Amino acid sequence: MTDKIPATLIPGDGIGPEITQSVVDILDALGSPFAWDSQLAGMAAMADGGDPLPLATIESIRRTGLALKGPLTTPVGGGFKSINVTLRKEFELFANLRPARTLIPGGRFENIDIVLVRENLEGFYAAMEHYMPLGHDAKAIAMSTGFNTRAECRRIVTYAFEYAVKNNRRKVTVVHKANILKALTGLFLEEGRAIAKEYEGRVEMNERIVDACAMQLVMDPWQFDVIVTTNLFGDILSDQIAGLVGGLGMAPGANIGTSGAIFEAVHGSAPDIAGKNVANPTAMLLSTALMLQHVGRHDLAARLDKAIDHTLTVAKVRTRDLGGEAGTREFTDAIRHHLA
Ligand code: NAD
Repeated sequence: MTDKIPATLIPGDGIGPEITQSVVDILDALGSPFAWDSQLAGMAAMADGGDPLPLATIESIRRTGLALKGPLTTPVGGGFKSINVTLRKEFELFANLRPARTLIPGGRFENIDIVLVRENLEGFYAAMEHYMPLGHDAKAIAMSTGFNTRAECRRIVTYAFEYAVKNNRRKVTVVHKANILKALTGLFLEEGRAIAKEYEGRVEMNERIVDACAMQLVMDPWQFDVIVTTNLFGDILSDQIAGLVGGLGMAPGANIGTSGAIFEAVHGSAPDIAGKNVANPTAMLLSTALMLQHVGRHDLAARLDKAIDHTLTVAKVRTRDLGGEAGTREFTDAIRHHLA
């Protein structure tokens, strides 16, 4: 019998297996609370059995309710549809959590600490698109329909405020475009205002129109604490925020649902550097720290975060994308050494 927490591990494509191995090795040094069930998805699963999202993988996540996922390659223009989007729908992963904080001092922006909460199922990401008329007619119109439901707006805003309360955050900024998209994002803002009232005195709420928010994130990012927004705006702003703290190699993510959660780095499978021992596993490690928090192991999450901080800023062991010389394995060993 084991008292470990069952969790699905999907190594993924490209650099996925390398950075996932790094996580597994570091968790072993930390005293991993997880019992991994390793499963395939993406190109690796295609090569294995011709299905990019095998039933065994879905059933494993259904059983564990918890997964750590490496990046998956999505073929462009044809092939199979995005597994990431399919997984979000399959497990109703309604909240996408993307925290960003400055880890390496001396960059353009110091002391950034922003958490973006993105609605993960609706908005323009529904991508219900068509042309009228079809073909190459000069008068052809391309159309896209987005939708937001009141229930989902309420759920995501509530999630953001609850996150703020539980994590001692002082402010939630509701980001919208209700001046133009009066129905689609007006509904979101309306729910934002209503939910904020329930948290009065505990969490401050303010509002920003998305374009102004994008500018202010560059001019004065320190005014932001927790940001909650709709799917497409969240997609764009979270990459912008990742840019404030050193780029995609440093950006973790969590997809949270009512009956499951999937943790993953924001970056992709980086086929250009796959198998070369140069990938930076930091984003995947930070995602693992989020996973540890999710299962209540705040002690292990704090130790892991500290070891990453120490390795990057005190020992100054860094991978090439951060201007260092360490390979994936050397960086992993440095963190393990610090944990020991
Ligand atoms: P990418 O994030 O894979 O790579 C962009 C650039 O960043 C590349 O130069 C790459 O070498 C570098 N990079 C990314 N992660 C790095 C890391 N950990 N360490 C060092 N350098 C890193 O984006 P892309 O090239 O647009 O996409 C490649 C594939 O990944 C595509 O098939 C795409 O669909 C897929 N993708 C998957 C996910 C996911 O599974 N969550 C997310 C984004 C993209």
